Amino acid sequence: MSNETAKPGYFGEFGGSFVPPELQEVLDYLSEQFYKFKDDPDFNEEFRYYLREYVGRENPLTYAERLTEHWGGAKIYLKREDLNHTGAHKINNVIGQILLAKRMGAKRVIAETGAGQHGVATATACAMFNMECIIYMGAEDTRRQALNVFRMELLGAKVVPVTKGQARLKDAVDEALGDLVQNYKTTFYLLGSAVGPHPFPTMVKHFQSVVSEESKRQIMEKEGRLPDAVLACVGGGSNAIGAFAHYIDEPSVRLIGVEPDQAATLTQGVPGEIHGFRCLVLLDEEGNPRKTYSIAAGLDYPGIGPEHSHLKVTGRAEYVAVSNEEVLAAFQELSRVEGIIPALESAHAVAYAKKIAPGMGKDKLIIINLSGRGDKDVEQVFHMLKK
Ligand SMILES: *Cc1c(COP(=O)(O)O)cnc(C)c1O
Repeated sequence: MSNETAKPGYFGEFGGSFVPPELQEVLDYLSEQFYKFKDDPDFNEEFRYYLREYVGRENPLTYAERLTEHWGGAKIYLKREDLNHTGAHKINNVIGQILLAKRMGAKRVIAETGAGQHGVATATACAMFNMECIIYMGAEDTRRQALNVFRMELLGAKVVPVTKGQARLKDAVDEALGDLVQNYKTTFYLLGSAVGPHPFPTMVKHFQSVVSEESKRQIMEKEGRLPDAVLACVGGGSNAIGAFAHYIDEPSVRLIGVEPDQAATLTQGVPGEIHGFRCLVLLDEEGNPRKTYSIAAGLDYPGIGPEHSHLKVTGRAEYVAVSNEEVLAAFQELSRVEGIIPALESAHAVAYAKKIAPGMGKDKLIIINLSGRGDKDVEQVFHMLKK
């Protein structure tokens, strides 16, 4: 299933854990606990229970009939992560990690957030599981995302603005790691994407794999065969790795990750280190992580999950970039043609599907992972289109 090498936490030359010894001890313990519970039947039964009763899984694999007609080529299916409670795939991983936190006896959950989406998903689950919740967020981001700060507070979380450094996501991660080292006896760090030191990328993939576990069963039921291509947008890489996981060992299935052309880590990155792990990373002339920009806040990160870095260099997956204009057009087209307003992040995958579908035969099958719904982006798109 996995293309991890013998050394746990490595995907070829990528991954690993490059952190101070006091943090390494905490991560080693987390690893041990994760491997213990991941195959535990009671743990898995509880995970499935909450995915069903709280998240609302399984979600449909919708045949996009009119979109297929419009593009005039491959048959398009949409994996509907947008229909999950809280409106995106992030909750899958949050439920998995919070159940692990409970088993480990944690009383406090901490998390980082950039635009606020992972913070909101974490605050939601903490409310339901009655856990204390602290969200670290760059002070700059708390100003730009004031409504999400309020949302997290409404859910009972405490949002801590981080003023160090550039007061952005990276600084929020550093602050959360510092908190973890201080309070590891009572605290669980719930990381939001398939990035970070081992065991986070492996753990996040494990919990997000439910996406392709379902889509594979669903496409077999509907079409009696595997898809020809699976497309997903890539920020840190969690929805994409979940959408790819059960197809990695099926060589007939093309796996395509789609990035914003101004944060194209996999298309333009070089091997390097960020946040305690090795991956492809966008660097500036001085060798520091480059400033990135994306209209989709969830894709705005200069690093990328180590497994995607490995899938890229081995050629098992393809990574491509699309422009803001293409994304905005796809956002509107899916809304108008299918009555589904996608997240701007997800619209990246739609935009690239639009480029390849017409050139594929009508007997070909494409699955687009619709990672989230676009309600959160409607106001931003309104202002962009008025310009
Ligand atoms: C956060 C987010 C992403 C990007 O994160 P990944 O870890 O790359 O999946 C994509 N889509 C939506 C809707 C998100 O909220």
